[in-house]
Parts: sequence; C-alpha cells; structure tokens
Amino acid sequence: MSAPNKSYDPVEVEALKPEEIERMRDEALAAFAAAGGLDALHEAKVAHTGPTSPLSLANREIGALPPQAKAEAGKRVGMARGAVNKALAARQAELEAERDARVLVEEAVDVTLPHDRLPAGARHPLTTLCERIEDVFVAMGYEVAEGPEVETEWFNFDALNFGPDHPARAMQDTFFVQGKAAADSGSAAGSAESGVVLRTHTSPVQVRAMLDREPPVYVVCPGRVYRTDELDATHTPVFTQVELLAIDEGLTMADLKGTIEHMVRSLFGEGLTTRLRPNYFPFTEPSAELDMQCYVCRGESAGNPDRPCRTCSSEGWIELGGCGMVNPRVLIAAGIDPEKYSGFAFGFGIERLLMFRHNVEDMRDMVEGDVRFTRPFGMEI
Ligand SMILES: [Zn+2]
Repeated sequence: MSAPNKSYDPVEVEALKPEEIERMRDEALAAFAAAGGLDALHEAKVAHTGPTSPLSLANREIGALPPQAKAEAGKRVGMARGAVNKALAARQAELEAERDARVLVEEAVDVTLPHDRLPAGARHPLTTLCERIEDVFVAMGYEVAEGPEVETEWFNFDALNFGPDHPARAMQDTFFVQGKAAADSGSAAGSAESGVVLRTHTSPVQVRAMLDREPPVYVVCPGRVYRTDELDATHTPVFTQVELLAIDEGLTMADLKGTIEHMVRSLFGEGLTTRLRPNYFPFTEPSAELDMQCYVCRGESAGNPDRPCRTCSSEGWIELGGCGMVNPRVLIAAGIDPEKYSGFAFGFGIERLLMFRHNVEDMRDMVEGDVRFTRPFGMEI
C-alpha cells in the first residue's frame, strides 16, 4: 500500500494548469466581446459561466487536488472566474445601454408630424350653405320643415293654384312617377284625380306645413327638387331649393322685403339692398322677382364701363329668386281664412347662390362628387 500522495503534481489534473485556466478565461472574454447583442451574450454566458462551462468544471476538480495544491488552484480559478464575471457584467451593461439608446431613437414620436395622412372629409358646400341659410331664419324664429320628394300632383300643383292645363305639369318639365289613372287605384294622398310626381319645387312642403299647423306659421323649407333638364353648365335635373313661408295677421310685402334683406346681409355683408320686380306665379299674388345688390361692385359697375363686374355681368343686381304674398286661393286650399291671415313666400335655388357666391362656373362640378371641387370650401362641418 503506497503512502498518500503528498506532493503537488499539476500534471495530474490537466484542467487546472495555469495556462489552461488562462485559455478558458481568455476564451470567455473573447466570446463576451464578440457577442453583438443581449441574446448572443446570454448564450456566451451559459457557455462560459454555466454549470457545464470549462471553468465550472475546473472548479470542481479542485476538490480532487492534494491539500497543499488546493489553495493555489482555487486562487487561480477564482481569479479567472472573477475576471470572467466582471467582463460579463461590463459587456451586459454596454449592450443594455446600446439597446436603450436604440429604442429611444426607434420608438421616438415626432409630435410635429401630421397625425393622419388621410385627409378628413368635409360636407358638401351645398349642404353647408343650405344650413347657413336655415340658421339665419331659425334665428328669426322660423322652424325648419321638410317633406317627401315623391309628391302627389295635388300638393305639387293643385293646392298651389296651378291650373289643370298649366305648362309646368307637362311631361317635358316634370318627372311623373305615376299618371292619374294609375294613382286612382293607389292609396296616394291627395285625391283620386292626383298623379304622383317628383316634386318640382319645395312649395308642397309649405302646403303641408299650413295643413299641419295653426297660424301663425313661420317655416323654412330646404330640399331637393326635380325637373326634366339635361345636366349642363347651368342646369341640373336635381337641384336644391330653400323656400320660406310666413303666415300671420297683417303681414305685408314690406315684411317680406325686410326679411329677405336681413338674409342677404347675413350671407353677403352689411349695407346691401334688395329690389322687387313684378312677376307672375300661380301661388302668390302679387308676385315678384327679388334681386339683391351685387355684393362685389355694390351696383357701381352698372353703366360704368371703367369698372366691369363679372359677378353681376355689370348689371349691378343679382337675381335671387321669386317671392310674393301667398295667393288667397292657396290659403283656402290649406284651410286658412284669407280674411284673417295673410302671408308671404320666397324661394330660391341654392346651386345658383353657390355659383355666384363662390364663382363656381359649372354646375356639373357640384354634382360630380370630385373632392378637388369640395376641398377648397374648407372643413366646415
Ligand atoms: Zn357686380
């Protein structure tokens, strides 16, 4: 039986040779330095400091050494592991700082960028102009009234004092949905003698408003109307009208003129005046065309070749629409006593108003839905 090995022989434990431990340490340091990211560094950490890493295995070998060699080997391995852990922590901090800096750049929010590259839509200028007009009248105490676009002939013509052979009833002016005979068997409102048409004006809403309400009646009636026109630069088969109706005791043409003048000033500016020209409509008596003073030249272009005006064609006046005192026959048809009440009505086309208010030269632009037309009117909602 041999005596216990009391002399240290480093050759016996290959893994604990100083140069071997240096190699393990240097490999670990090189692997950490080469790690380009935190994931790669984690892999290098497992390989060089984990339980199966060469240095950990070498550490276990220390126990097998003779006592006098343990201290020296332990010191060497401990210093190597210390250096490795220090290098690991340094590289870890370095890579984390790099990641944080990158995240700051990549996830930065530029608050000056436009928040949405899709342009927001806007309502059609006809709609906004129409509502602006409604607002003028609502502020004066009027009520907004609407009615059906498919209307009986009775509401569209008869109740408004259009004679049975009035030219407006002809097929070349009016879209008929149902002829008289077809409507006879239907349950259309009005009467058995009434056909059904696409309303040619918003005046039937006035009749409905008078039938629905007790006087005094103050309504503004906006809406689409239909006539058999071809679509061109100045005509469209579908267009928008606003009509107003006031029924009260003692109303006169002066009330009508004052009301319209207020609307003109609200829409076009202070100081503009209006004028009436005699005309004829079946549903008003007396009837008139209403002109407003040109809001661009204020009438100064009329008879003045040095100052031509495109807006009013140097007339000084712009034709707005038709108006008049409600015909007593219409009041009777709507069940209102013409001895006690009188009323005035005024109607005009919004397309024409939009044309001269905003220098729109072609009516087709308003119906084609091209955003290049509507966008310059702004984002009014
Ligand atoms: Zn003018």
